[in-house]
Formats: sequence, structure tokens, C-alpha cells
Amino acid sequence: MQYYISHYNKECELNFPDDITIYDTTLRDGEQTPGVCFGFEEKLEIARKLDQFRINQIEAGFPIVSERERETVKAIAGEGLDAEILALTRTKPEDIDAAIDCGVDGIITFIGTSDIHLDHKMHIGRQEAVNLSEKAIEYAKDHGLFVAFSAEDATRTDIEFLKRIYGIAEECGADRVHIADTTGAITPDGIRYLVRELVKDINIDIALHCHNDFGLAVINSITGLLAGAKGISTTVNGIGERAGNASLEELIMALKILYGKDLGFKTKYIKELSSLVSKYSGLKVPYNKPVVGNNVFRHESGIHVDAVIEEPLCYEPYVPELVGQKRQLVLGKHSGCRAVRAKLSECELEVSDDELIEIVKKVKKSREEGKYINDKIFKEIVKSTKR
Ligand code: MN
Repeated sequence: MQYYISHYNKECELNFPDDITIYDTTLRDGEQTPGVCFGFEEKLEIARKLDQFRINQIEAGFPIVSERERETVKAIAGEGLDAEILALTRTKPEDIDAAIDCGVDGIITFIGTSDIHLDHKMHIGRQEAVNLSEKAIEYAKDHGLFVAFSAEDATRTDIEFLKRIYGIAEECGADRVHIADTTGAITPDGIRYLVRELVKDINIDIALHCHNDFGLAVINSITGLLAGAKGISTTVNGIGERAGNASLEELIMALKILYGKDLGFKTKYIKELSSLVSKYSGLKVPYNKPVVGNNVFRHESGIHVDAVIEEPLCYEPYVPELVGQKRQLVLGKHSGCRAVRAKLSECELEVSDDELIEIVKKVKKSREEGKYINDKIFKEIVKSTKR
């Protein structure tokens, strides 16, 4: 058995759409994390690893930002990956030209649609926002691109205006519309309402770009899918502006394990992907981060370790191999004889029963004196006990 979850999950009827697209924006929103700037080779390596994971679409960057960004997006588009390569653009022709120059498969063209964005950022009215969007979508479609139209701050936008601008996007030939929860300001119930309202009017795919300001990005994304959305934006390790975005690994594993919706991704690459993004972004993964944290499959307490040695699923919902992690038994003040014996056999060491009891005492004492019991310390303890 590779996983063991609550049977109560099956008590609720859940309907996911058949084709779900994950478009990962680690290389765009992820790179907009304050202090993060990926190098050319680093971006390429992350893109290749995402492709190995079998991601559907990669939002590779924002070409208008710089010459270097254009070169990088162009190189990613030229890699011949299976994933579709998208670039971000404003609704400006020069942005779309820059994306076209990169040879990408498509664009995500965005404009702020909430009154607060129109008034305080764009300084334009609703009609002008509609006009700009219309022109941009038509221009991009004329150039044969896949076009996703993203309403920035959609979750704080008037529903009638949102329906109007998405409707126009559809008329202009957009392939998908994006609901951007730009400030992570919606609840799962709010997103369910919004998506259900929009699917009544919109005949093209709806996707979600959720931010994690309240820690709800993943559940908002899942709730959106259950309400009829067909695309989700993610980032590896959940990096991104402020509190970041819906984390790729949490979303994929929750869907696969908890909801029984396996999207066919190569989840065994998850840990590698996470480590790569952590290394190149300079952002350490918290030890308790779901799925990819170093403590997620690590057990120390004697009671837990004893049980895990016999049956790992006593204290794990799924086995670490599914995400490229390893189970680790850590010795400490809560360790008992079984844990120490397991560690001894891992290190291929043999001791007598008396020596074992002595070693357990020493392990507890060393830990309480502040030493972390790594293999080196453990072997020293064993050596000092052997007669
Ligand atoms: Mn964003």
C-alpha cells in the first residue's frame, strides 16, 4: 500500500473536469519573489525539470522586462520541450511583439479589472480596459498564439464587469480566461460562487491564479476545479509575490492522494524540482513544508518510530518514494530500543542486548546535552560502548 487516507473523503460526491491543465509560473511569478533572480542556465534547468515532471504549460517569463529575459524565454521556447511555453504580456502591442519574438506557443495577457486597479494603477475607465484587451487578444490571435486573458485582481472585480470583459475575450478568440486572485483575498466559498457564476456565461476554459496570503491558495484552487475551472497556476515550493502562489507539489499531491485525481505527473521528481528551485531562488524550504519539507518523512519519537518500523502508514499518509523523498528515523531523547536497533542494522553494526540498553541511554543523554545524533555521533556512541 502506497497511501492510506480517511475513508470519509469518499462520503462527499466530487466532480472534477476531465481535462485539467496545470500552468506553472515558477519562472515568472516565482521570479517576482522579492530578492529572486534566476540566471539564464538556471531558468533553463528548471524548465527542463518541469518538463520531465510532465507539466502541461510553463509560463517562462515576462519578455518585455529585459533583453536578457527575452533571450531566456526564447531559449526555453527553443528547447523542444513537450510542455507548451507561455509568456506574460500586458495588453500592449510591444509586449506581445516581444513575446512573439521569443517564439513562444502562447501568451497570458493581463489587465487589472477591479476598480481599485483601474483607478489607482491604470488610471483608466472600464471601457478603455475593454478596448485595450480586445485589441491585444485580436493582435495575438492574428499571430497564431494560444491566448489566455487574465483579469488581474478578478476576485475584487464587479461580477457584471468581469462577465462582460471575459465575454469579449471569448468573442475575440481567447482560448482561456484567468481569474487572478492577485491579493489572495477570496475564500473557498467565494471562489466556488465566482466560478459557478462565470461558467454559466463563458464557454471557453476558466483557469485560476491563486495567491497564498491567507494560506488558502491550494484549497481555493481545488475548490475552483470542483466548481468547473479547468486550469490552475502553480509555483514550485509555492514561491511568488508576498506569501506566494498555490504550491505545485501540495496541489498535485492533494489531488492525487486525497481526491483521487491523478493528473499523470511524474511525482517522483517533486523533491528534485523543489531542491532545484530552492537552490536557484536562494529560498530555503521550511522543514515542515508539506510534501517537500525535510521533516515530512522524518520520525524521532520512540512511539512513532516503533510503529513506523512495522508499518510506515501508521504515521504517514503516503510513502516518501511517491515524491522522491526518503524516510528517516532520527534518534533523540524519545528514542527506544527498536529505533536504536533499526539504526544499528542500517549502519551494519552488531551489539549485545546489554550494550543496546547502554547505547539507548547514551543516545538520550547526548541529545539532552545538545548533540544532534547524526550517523557520526551515533557510531562514536556505539564504539564507546562496545567492550
Ligand atoms: Mn501573481
